[in-house]
Amino acid sequence: MSVRLLFRCQFCDAQPDPLTQINLEKSVPELMWGAYEDAMPEKWLIWHGRGLYGPPRYACREHRGDLVAFLREHYGTIGWHPWKRPPYPTSLRNPDKERAIAVGGRSAMPKWGYGPQVK
Ligand SMILES: [Zn+2]
Repeated sequence: MSVRLLFRCQFCDAQPDPLTQINLEKSVPELMWGAYEDAMPEKWLIWHGRGLYGPPRYACREHRGDLVAFLREHYGTIGWHPWKRPPYPTSLRNPDKERAIAVGGRSAMPKWGYGPQVK
């Protein structure tokens, strides 16, 4: 049984079409922080927040500009991430990152050797 995640534009009631939905779902386990990502084909904007930058946020094509403005207003003083200009990547995944997730890269600072050791 699979859990269907519901994505909603933060500014209206728009919901993604099935293909965009798939790309939004794929974005969830990303090992990302403070990054924008485009979800095709409807070109939704994903904000990978976390930590100081708040929860992940989503906006439909019509409201992606509003999301960027919102983030810059709320988090613009924290760091440069919300100020990043387009074009944004359509996928932030790459083999290195997949491997990092597989060996527990989500834990705190494993690359410095202080995280859990995977043998
Ligand atoms: Zn919207």
